[in-house]
Amino acid sequence: MKKILVLHTGGTISMTETASGKVVVSAQNPLLDTALTTEDELELVVEDFANLPSPHVTPKDMLALKERCQRAFRDEFVKGIVITHGTDTLEETAFFLDTTLREKYPIVLTGAMRSNNEIGSDGIYNYLTAIRVASDESSRYKGVLVVMNDEIHTAKYVTKTHTTNVATFKTPTRGPLGLVTKSKIIYFQASADDIVLDITTIDGNIPIIKAYAGMTDVLFNLLDVALLDGLVIEALGAGNLPPLAAKGLERILAADIPVILVSRCFNGITEAIYHYQGGGGQLKEMGVIFCKGINAQKARLKLLIALNAGIDGRQLREYIKW
Ligand code: ASP
Repeated sequence: MKKILVLHTGGTISMTETASGKVVVSAQNPLLDTALTTEDELELVVEDFANLPSPHVTPKDMLALKERCQRAFRDEFVKGIVITHGTDTLEETAFFLDTTLREKYPIVLTGAMRSNNEIGSDGIYNYLTAIRVASDESSRYKGVLVVMNDEIHTAKYVTKTHTTNVATFKTPTRGPLGLVTKSKIIYFQASADDIVLDITTIDGNIPIIKAYAGMTDVLFNLLDVALLDGLVIEALGAGNLPPLAAKGLERILAADIPVILVSRCFNGITEAIYHYQGGGGQLKEMGVIFCKGINAQKARLKLLIALNAGIDGRQLREYIKW
């Protein structure tokens, strides 16, 4: 028997819609009452780990989840884990787990866009699909996966792209790792082989600031560097800022605070190619670290994890780059 551990954490997948159309947290997770037909050789162990709307999930919850997964693989003979999660921050929890643990057996996150009792609810279907992926031999050594709407995505690059559509999870630039068909789990891409930082704490203050036309130094001047462990900027295009905003970074960089740059475009990677005032070339010379291929919320977690792992200086720059 292959033992699969299910960790429910909350989100729409376990919520209920009231008669007046309000989506509310259910007292009892309806997924616990769901009779699933799975392969005979599966032993499903189901645990109500939490019952949180995902905007309530913090990096400390993610750390607790990571430790729960490690314990399951180490001590409980578990051969795959499915985590149900609210979709709003699902990509962050998935990225956190992917960055802090690398196991032979699959860890698969899933959620739903429609609550349990809504017409066309996608919860049970995604849940069942995630179990199929987590128990499939071909899902081993793939890092943490996100399975929604018949697609398999790597936690590293997947993002929520639509507020309500069931096809919300996408991997811009690279595309999904694989597909779930009626009869098969098919992978057509390999996952990246990344450095894993197995941390035990997750403290720090790293805000994200988004750039816009006409941006000045005002927002940066409001930041108290004594309370800052790092800063992530969602810059324009390939990685540029308006001139006054770039000037505002000087004080933060002078205080030795790591400043990470990603793009506000959801497709493509950042590059320091423009050499005008505030252009990527100038920002790089100032000491801003360009982070390629991941979005701001993931770059923030990556920096937080690196700082908690005690990485700094040149090593930090190398680690953050990709
Ligand atoms: N707001 C919900 C949550 O993230 C959305 C969802 O689960 O789809 O908890």
